[in-house]
Amino acid sequence: MKELVVLSGKGGTGKTTLTACFAVLARQKVLADADVDAADLFILLEPEIRQREVFRSGYVADIDLQLCVQCGQCRDFCRFDAISPDFVVDTVDCEGCGVCVRFCPEEAIQLKECISGEWYISETRYGPFVHAKLGAGEENSGKLVTVVRHNAKLIAEEEGLEWIIVDGPPGIGCPAISSVTGAGAVLIVTEPTLAGIHDMKRVAELAAHFRVPRAVCVNKWDLNREMTAAIEGYCCREGIPFLGKLPYDRVVSRALVNRKVLVEYAPDSEVAGAVRSVWEGLQRVFRASGGVESRAGGG
Ligand code: SF4
Ligand code: SF4
Repeated sequence: MKELVVLSGKGGTGKTTLTACFAVLARQKVLADADVDAADLFILLEPEIRQREVFRSGYVADIDLQLCVQCGQCRDFCRFDAISPDFVVDTVDCEGCGVCVRFCPEEAIQLKECISGEWYISETRYGPFVHAKLGAGEENSGKLVTVVRHNAKLIAEEEGLEWIIVDGPPGIGCPAISSVTGAGAVLIVTEPTLAGIHDMKRVAELAAHFRVPRAVCVNKWDLNREMTAAIEGYCCREGIPFLGKLPYDRVVSRALVNRKVLVEYAPDSEVAGAVRSVWEGLQRVFRASGGVESRAGGG
């Protein structure tokens, strides 16, 4: 199977629009939304949830104030200053290390599992879809990305599907690392601005670090032809396949407003043609990398 992860240096570059198009263009695929902090691929795919699971991301201490004699030992031992003077645990600061549990003379503290979100397996008209929702302010999105990718891979294996198409998270933080490690290839979607080039380079370096084949395409390329040329030049120097330039076209936002996938909403538009050409380029990237199999599981 081939796992493609679509990435961008920041949000709003058209990454999800492209991923949804690939969901239409790929045959025999499972789809995954690894942008768990701001999942929005579901808006276009209109999934029907078949399976719903709780995401457990770790532990926090919980003090039973009925048993507590306020000796203060837990506060003295906690390296993270997670316990208030009135012996209430701050669940954000608590790292779940368990030291306070161990030293409480009254056995008044327990570790409780944290439920940080949910993940789902859904059906869409394009195929199975694994997605997730992280609770507001919750951390551990990298771990949730790993859960999403892992389950997408299991489905691909069980159903003998050729493609895993992943809408990756923006940036180069922990969730991006979790989405890149072991992938078959990444497509970096960028825009022709100075910030866009800077972000693209950071993502390209991240993928190179994990030895994942890379490719680049530019969205709204005609808004700054000079910058687009600079991006092409960078790709050429770095040996990164440059797969195409998507023109600015209001039909893209019209498709989004109507909750439609661009290549279905306006199949004859120039921008839809450019997307199809990027998709064809991706087949070449996978062929050139020897049909790299997903080494997925995340990191
Ligand atoms: S160590 Fe136990 S008894 Fe002492 S203050 Fe903390 S919770 Fe209360
Ligand atoms: S589990 Fe660790 S981090 Fe959390 S309150 Fe206890 S000592 Fe502090």
